[in-house]
Amino acid sequence: MSTTVSGIGSTRSQIMLYSEKEYLQQSTQAYNNIINAAKQRRLLVNNDQVNRVAKRLIAQVPHYRSDAAQWNWEVNTIKDSSINAFCLSGGKIGVLTGSMTKINATDDELAALIGHEISHALRDHGREKMSKKFLTSLGILAASSAGLGDIAVSGTSLVGDYGINLPGSRKLETEADLLGLEIMVRAGYNPQGGVSFWNKVLAQEKAGTKVDFLSTHPASEKRIVAIQEHINQMNK
Ligand SMILES: [Zn+2]
Repeated sequence: MSTTVSGIGSTRSQIMLYSEKEYLQQSTQAYNNIINAAKQRRLLVNNDQVNRVAKRLIAQVPHYRSDAAQWNWEVNTIKDSSINAFCLSGGKIGVLTGSMTKINATDDELAALIGHEISHALRDHGREKMSKKFLTSLGILAASSAGLGDIAVSGTSLVGDYGINLPGSRKLETEADLLGLEIMVRAGYNPQGGVSFWNKVLAQEKAGTKVDFLSTHPASEKRIVAIQEHINQMNK
């Protein structure tokens, strides 16, 4: 099966052991826990840039997944100095303020980050990862199986506490990068924002800043080159 209808990088068929309904319930519960915890700690803030960018991206999702138009989309900004964002199944978006402040993010760069996270949700990557984890525990998927070799440990931030950023694979990351670029272009953003976003994140790491986001999103020159190649392809 495949959760999305079209889009480069998302034609791969997926293993799904958990029902969509079951996973949607769990995602919504996890999201509510995060938002409530943030609210209690007075960390929920209103951020015009996040609201503006997310709204434009969300308007494009029906092109890739029709049922996502019916999702009860929510966008929240959490005060936290880390660069990080997530979008859970059902359209539950969270962005940490460090994503803007640490790198002085432009709308194009923020669109690259949020578009990437929305793509994970549209492709139900969380559900797929849970399914793979289960199969791996049964020994059905060998550790050498493609995509499982680069599992990283998630951070210990507010987001990490709830296991939202489950360790991913390079394959899922590439899928989200490419679909995210398509969504941001459709929303009228400059896809070069994808390149500059990752360059800025890399620069942070090189400068010695601990970037939790990088533990689940390995950034490399190779990743940036792949994004640039995809942009060139789209411009043809
Ligand atoms: Zn990702």
